[in-house]
Amino acid sequence: MIEYFREIFSGLWSLLVGMKLTLRYSLQPTITCHYPFETLDITPNFRGHTDLAIDLDTADHKCIVCGMCENACPSQCITVVGEKPEGSKKKVLTGYGLDFTKCSLCGNCVEVCPTSALEYSQEYQLAGFSRHDFHFDLLARLREQVKARGIRPKPKPAVPEGEAAEPKPRRPKAKPEAAEAAEPKPEDSPKSEEEPAKADL
Ligand code: SF4
Ligand code: SF4
Repeated sequence: MIEYFREIFSGLWSLLVGMKLTLRYSLQPTITCHYPFETLDITPNFRGHTDLAIDLDTADHKCIVCGMCENACPSQCITVVGEKPEGSKKKVLTGYGLDFTKCSLCGNCVEVCPTSALEYSQEYQLAGFSRHDFHFDLLARLREQVKARGIRPKPKPAVPEGEAAEPKPRRPKAKPEAAEAAEPKPEDSPKSEEEPAKADL
């Protein structure tokens, strides 16, 4: 019988301790983040999936379609697509595919890129119903971000009027070697008619 009342008393005591804590914290300001209605700012060192970096000067990417990231990826999850527009010597990026289901976030692609066109995204809310939800088109994503953030290309600095009008000095054309060889040198040239006469005297 005594044991029975001891258990009831112990239960009531633990309930009162819990209620005391609840009462204390319910009167204090909220310190928790109400996810998903609120999200946290992630540290800049966070490594989300790789992403094409936005060039703030041109409001575009910095990729030169060299394919080095594609070759350096150990998981073969990058597909760089580019084409040469008519009359241009340079390729233009037309698609950048990332299969994030295979990516190990090793960072090789970011390190080898010669133009720093790649970076890590701050994306941490990744969820999907199929693996295809993690096949990203990074070029399309970049275009969406540029539009959403309202980034516009910076105007190019104006060239001063004098400099624009002044023509550049033209360098004399180098003579072809054959022409140079054929040209008579001063010592090879025939002596004037007066010289032999002087010699005879
Ligand atoms: S982080 Fe590594 S695995 Fe992921 S895309 Fe880049 S090179 Fe491939
Ligand atoms: S290494 Fe950089 S510049 Fe070359 S294709 Fe990849 S993202 Fe583009």
